[in-house]
Amino acid sequence: MTQQVQHFIDGEFVTSTSDKLIAVTNPATQQVIAQVPCATSEEMARAIASAKAAFQTWKEVPVSERARLMMRFAHLLKEHQGEIAEIICEELGKTVEDAKGDVWRGIEVVEQAANIPSLMMGETVENVARSIDTYSYIQPLGVCAGITPFNFPAMIPLWMFPMAIACGNTFILKPSEQDPMTVNKIAELFVKAGAPKGVLQVVHGAKEQVDAILHHPDIKAISFVGSVNVGQYIYKTGTDNLKRVQAFAGAKNHMVIMPDANKQQVVNALVGASVGAAGQRCMAISVAVFVGAAAEWIPEVAAAIGKVRPGHYSDANAAYGPQISPQARARVLSLIEQGKKEGATCVLDGTDCVVDGYPNGNWVGPTVFSNVTTEMEIYKQEIFGPVLSTMTVDSLEEALKVVNDSPFGNGTSIFTASGAAARKYQHNVEVGQVGINIPIPVPLPFFSFTGWKGSFYGDQHAYGKQAVRFYTETKTITARWFDDDIPVAGPNMSINLR
Ligand code: NAD
Repeated sequence: MTQQVQHFIDGEFVTSTSDKLIAVTNPATQQVIAQVPCATSEEMARAIASAKAAFQTWKEVPVSERARLMMRFAHLLKEHQGEIAEIICEELGKTVEDAKGDVWRGIEVVEQAANIPSLMMGETVENVARSIDTYSYIQPLGVCAGITPFNFPAMIPLWMFPMAIACGNTFILKPSEQDPMTVNKIAELFVKAGAPKGVLQVVHGAKEQVDAILHHPDIKAISFVGSVNVGQYIYKTGTDNLKRVQAFAGAKNHMVIMPDANKQQVVNALVGASVGAAGQRCMAISVAVFVGAAAEWIPEVAAAIGKVRPGHYSDANAAYGPQISPQARARVLSLIEQGKKEGATCVLDGTDCVVDGYPNGNWVGPTVFSNVTTEMEIYKQEIFGPVLSTMTVDSLEEALKVVNDSPFGNGTSIFTASGAAARKYQHNVEVGQVGINIPIPVPLPFFSFTGWKGSFYGDQHAYGKQAVRFYTETKTITARWFDDDIPVAGPNMSINLR
């Protein structure tokens, strides 16, 4: 019998009593590797009640102790990076290097969370009036929740709960039902690091469990990462229930290539950024906008991408893995067919992709289109597969207009030798993360990062450094320290400053 993925509730890994189970499959073979339960309403209630109770004691734990927990956790994650990566390979199909990178990006956030004392410092001003001081404290909110996507099963949960918990909150995590085992391993290490009972809860499931989170009065803030439609739903429902919500959503990222760019750099960058990770990255470059004579490089780009082959993670030469599910693969293939019907030129067609030894894998070969226009579905939709659309325009201004007219604003990049062009692009582009001669400009967590426009809904506090602002409240105190005979707030409520 296949194993059942356990919830982590009230400090224990528990087997669900739910009769709703979803199969977790290895996307390279279709082998069912586990069954993930959809938490019952009783299990959801128990997890939230446990997190609520734990908050009362956890918020009183000194900030330096909370920081030390994160230091130990980061250390354990490093020690077990390979083991976590193996789980990712099996349930998501990433290559080993990619899976290790997924874990490493998360470790960097835990290291940032270990810096929590300085991140939680308030502000002070002495003598706002005579003998009166004003100062502020940053305080945790209570029970926070996170809902995460399949494509980074280590990094994205680690964007959320370490920072929230370091701030003094407790946390309910609902990972993707498509690859739920990675998070269980991470939770196990969190316990080993010394996390007290109840501080983190992992509940498995899908929409119904998300709805329980969205409607529960004891959950104060929700972080979401996933697709646009679900992001909008979570933002609308969560805020309707008067919760704080940040929803990181889908993307369609453009790379602008100026004719003065270094051609080899452009070709190399596009290979990895477009089809790497099977295109299942919110920061993948899915549209390359060639300016003027740079369009002559499109055949060379397609030829270089054509040399890349997907494969099983045990194959060290595999450039990327399968799509997460047969449904995801079917969707990518149907979009490729639609692109052909709509008149784009398919210069590299990956629809007939075979990987030796893995006939049942969700493979899609690298695919490149030219002559793509903004009306086509392959341009409008986030394909989330190894498909690059290329377009040609006459000027940087025209390229900027294409990018700024896109409803998405997650990431973008420009390749150019001109400082003036790069500066103009950087300044005018309406996108959250911009690369200059860098294809995937992912910032480190000591910065803050978020998408713009339809790639993000909600509170502008981002992941990284400013996540602390999302997971806390500010309390401002104005104190009169001495019983001096001075006037304080009068009927007009202003303090006499003389
Ligand atoms: P998804 O939206 O299908 O699922 C995300 C989470 O929402 C999962 O936990 C899932 O169980 C839950 N969910 C799914 N349908 C739901 C519904 N109807 N109601 C309530 N909850 C629901 O996303 P995915 O396919 O797992 O991930 C890929 C998407 O995530 C892509 O669009 C990608 O661009 C996006 N993404 C964005 C970022 C970012 O930083 N902006 C990062 C990574 C991934």
